[in-house]
Amino acid sequence: MMKRVPKIVVGDPLDEMFFRLLRGKAFLVKAYELDQGEFAKLLKDADVVVVRSRRRLDRCTIDRAPRLKVIARAGVGLDNVDVDYAVKRGITLLSTGDASTEAVAELTIGLMIALARRITELDRKMKRGNWCKNSGAGVELRGKTLGIIGLGRIGSRVAELARVFGMRVVAYDPYVSREKAERLGVELKQRLEDLLRESDFVSIHAVLTEETEGMIGERELRLMKPTAYLVNTARGAIVDEEALVRALEGGWIAGAALDVYEREPPSSRLAGLENVILTPHVGASTVEAQKRIARVLAEKILVALENIGEMGESP
Ligand code: NAD
Repeated sequence: MMKRVPKIVVGDPLDEMFFRLLRGKAFLVKAYELDQGEFAKLLKDADVVVVRSRRRLDRCTIDRAPRLKVIARAGVGLDNVDVDYAVKRGITLLSTGDASTEAVAELTIGLMIALARRITELDRKMKRGNWCKNSGAGVELRGKTLGIIGLGRIGSRVAELARVFGMRVVAYDPYVSREKAERLGVELKQRLEDLLRESDFVSIHAVLTEETEGMIGERELRLMKPTAYLVNTARGAIVDEEALVRALEGGWIAGAALDVYEREPPSSRLAGLENVILTPHVGASTVEAQKRIARVLAEKILVALENIGEMGESP
């Protein structure tokens, strides 16, 4: 008997390689521009839904998809998906693990250097016609302490790169072993407070969970050195953005660089500050990472559909 061809709804933009790899194997529907209501309607007979970080797959949306067998996240972090409910429904959850690690790690180092050497600020001044050669010196990474919160895939790669720059690296992650930290040449801290007090740069690479939500608030920002910089390329909600604005305005810290926000796009209060660098959640947006994500995701979806006996004839 001919099996039904699986329907895959793609909710957020993906590299064309994904569509090339699955052409002839599934009925593919792009739903990039649809509002959440229209998107949910398309899920009525979907077998697979693909999202990045923008689309929310809450219980209500998942309920609109009675045939759904696979939720595939292009990237990492399933905080936009009601994971508990999906698991209860027996839905397979996929993500692309390591595919974006290098891209996010390199952006993080780029942001650290941009903060240290005030690259974006000087660029802005130059373009306004201000030859601001004597407007204050930057600082070097060499010999400084980098505090990494979350020593997973990206945190570990940032640690490796930072060590090449001659930085001392400390980390706070209650779920990694001392052996792993030692292998990376990183000193593991038992208390977040110690990391915050000692670090010249603090970079966040933890997953967003109930435990990490708001973990950097006023108290934590006040523990940091007034000369220290905060970088967040993980998830916006890990930092209390209101407290961060006060920290930047009040000089509790020297500056910050953010790729992720509590709400995306973020409030304009951040954009009004001189000592903050903002990028629009582009951590994984490199040509290489997007192709890697597309390939890994297509392969994983095919395996998952085969495992649950859903691969049919070509359409
Ligand atoms: P990962 O799962 O490999 O690592 C996350 C680490 O966080 C783990 O080691 C875990 O033990 C640690 N952690 C959990 N709870 C913690 C806590 N309470 N305190 C400190 N650490 C804790 O994930 P990853 O692939 O390295 O991704 C890291 C972060 O980067 C995630 O938040 C992910 O969503 C984000 N990310 C952002 C972009 C972007 O475009 N900016 C792209 C990819 C990933």
